[in-house]
Order: sequence, then structure tokens, then C-alpha cells
Amino acid sequence: MTAVTRAEKDTCDAYHVVEAQRLHWGCVHELSIAESILEAVRTECARRPEKRVRPVRVGLKIGEMAAVDEDALTFCFDAMVKGTEYDGLKLAIKIVKQQRRCAACSNEFAVVDYNAVCTACGSSETKAISGDELDFEFLEVETDEQ
Ligand SMILES: [Zn+2]
Repeated sequence: MTAVTRAEKDTCDAYHVVEAQRLHWGCVHELSIAESILEAVRTECARRPEKRVRPVRVGLKIGEMAAVDEDALTFCFDAMVKGTEYDGLKLAIKIVKQQRRCAACSNEFAVVDYNAVCTACGSSETKAISGDELDFEFLEVETDEQ
């Protein structure tokens, strides 16, 4: 009985280690993005030294082709601000569809299911005009002023 319990426990521990590593490595890209966001927040707050501003929400626009994992980014960001002056600061992420423009008819359309064919004339001569962006869209702050 004891042996079985120990074996189960060992398996369980190993599983947790594997999961933790996967999470860590899967998060490296998002971690550097989270750092950039925080840097942008600092810059934005430093622009208004006369007011005591407390950032509460950061708006981000992420193209669906930007290969950013929304959950991993939120996880990294929350971990990064925890216990700092920005504790509680939230990310508001908006995923935007890839936009393409048709060379034949100039139609601009949002890509659905990775189908790059023009929705107006059916031409496959289309070019991506957006979809891999990572934009700092807004910063919502609270001030201590009355
Ligand atoms: Zn077209």
C-alpha cells in the first residue's frame, strides 16, 4: 500500500515539474512584451509628474498573427506588477483580425479562417496590411485630484 502511494506521489510531482517548465518557457516571449508594456506605462506616467496618477488599465491591440498568447501575457503581466507600485493594474487586450487589401479591386477585408482570397472579387492577389501589430492603445488612470 505504502509503495503504491509513493509511486503515485512521485508521478504526480514529476508531472508538476514538467508543467511548470512548459509554462516558464512558453512565457519568455510574453514576458518581454509585458516588460515593454510596463516600460510604456512608466513613460506615460512620467509625462504628468504634476499629477499623482495611478494607472488602472492598459489597453492593448494585438493582431491575431502576432503570435502572442493572450493568457500567457496576462499571467506574466499580473506576476510582474504584483507587489509593485502598479499592483492591480489590468490589461485590456483586444485581438484584431488580419486585414488584407486586394491588388485587383482594392477591396480591404478582414481575414476569416486564414482565407486570403478577396471577399469582393475572389482574386488571390491580396496583401496583408495589418494583423501582426502590437499596439499600446490607451492607459486608464486615476488621479488623486478633486
Ligand atoms: Zn478583389
